[in-house]
Amino acid sequence: MDNAEKARMENGRLFVPDHVVIPYIEGDGIGPDIWRAASFVFNSAVEKAYGGARSIQWKEVLAGQKAFDRTGKWLPEETISAFEEYLIGIKGPLTTPVGGGFRSLNVTLRQRLDLYVCLRPVRYFKGVPSPVRHPEKVDMVVFRENTEDVYAGYELEEGKEETERMINFLKENYGWEIPSDSGIGIKPISRSRTRRLVEAAINYAVKYRRRSVTLVHKGNIQKFTEGAFRKWGYELAREKYRDIVVTYDDFNGDIPEGKILIKDVIADIFFQQALTRADEFDVIATMNLNGDYISDALAAQVGGIGIAPGGNINYQTGHAVFEATHGTAPKYAGLDKVNPGSLILSGEMMFRYMGWDEAADLIIKGLEETIKEKIVTYDFARLMEGAKEVKCSEFAEEMVKRMN
Ligand code: NAP
Repeated sequence: MDNAEKARMENGRLFVPDHVVIPYIEGDGIGPDIWRAASFVFNSAVEKAYGGARSIQWKEVLAGQKAFDRTGKWLPEETISAFEEYLIGIKGPLTTPVGGGFRSLNVTLRQRLDLYVCLRPVRYFKGVPSPVRHPEKVDMVVFRENTEDVYAGYELEEGKEETERMINFLKENYGWEIPSDSGIGIKPISRSRTRRLVEAAINYAVKYRRRSVTLVHKGNIQKFTEGAFRKWGYELAREKYRDIVVTYDDFNGDIPEGKILIKDVIADIFFQQALTRADEFDVIATMNLNGDYISDALAAQVGGIGIAPGGNINYQTGHAVFEATHGTAPKYAGLDKVNPGSLILSGEMMFRYMGWDEAADLIIKGLEETIKEKIVTYDFARLMEGAKEVKCSEFAEEMVKRMN
């Protein structure tokens, strides 16, 4: 396909050509197994949906062990430039070498491309073994802020001279009494970054006709960070989306037809209610640490921790990197055994982001039908009665057969 082009931004909107180049990282460990299965599903979905009118030219870029073996670098600069240049990409899991000043690829890409949203949709697929009674009530989309909070990396180690200086400074200037043997972390939450995150969440709710956006925070305790997130979130919603949204303060009773409810909940109560009243939540907007816990807890609730997809996105520049959320599971590498679902559903998210909804719909259909018929990989088979266990590649083939 020589006519494939780059995705690009045109007048502030993402433009994806019909024949597009997409860079991918195969990943380490089980990466090659799941990439083989997933790319077969992606190509088949595009072919079935568009019959040649659209296609993807996959461009491999290196990272992790494969990159290190070939180039001596865990994350070559060309890889970052490729994601920068082609806007949209996808990756398998990568080995994180232990020790020695290595920053994870995810962190590096997030910072270099300012991928400020970590997007994690969580829904139930009928038949997946789940630890709760009504997993089907979970249908949430988590917008986790990706660039600040305690994850910004501003930390001082206990016992270091600079830490002592900070502790003394805080005592002298603020009267704060912090034990001298403390480590210190800083939690920045900014107005501008809160606003762009909440804006992305509301835009998503509008585009996909979702009912509500819930701001999850611990603002009762951390008033000027998490409490401010809540305040700025509502402020943004009222300022920019006055005609589309309502809050509990603005109405009595039912939500008017076609409006999106903006509400908030304290993080600890959220965890309870997500279990007991899951269907009251829809789009979730939250800060980095809360979002990390929430995405994994919700994924576990639908039994989907092994098939949970994710994407890191900057909606302003168009940059987006979709990824399997599990690790490299080295003991299964090369056995053609593991579940390719996480990478496949990350691809489904990617197609939706590209506006290729027909291909995305086919992927969902294929996955739903295959799991419903109890044709699954080992991880689900061991928890299901009467399941037919298939290999990683066979699971992909079964999916494709059902993508009609
Ligand atoms: P892991 O690779 O996620 O594997 C832990 C266990 O999860 C596996 O032993 C397996 O469980 C299950 N599992 C993971 N992926 C699966 C799949 N596709 N299908 C079925 N089961 C799956 O976590 P880890 O062993 O802690 O980490 C291994 C390496 O991955 C480390 O180098 C770590 O740094 C890296 N890592 C990378 C990423 C990333 O790139 N995004 C994320 C996390 C970890 P059973 O043994 O019960 O079958």
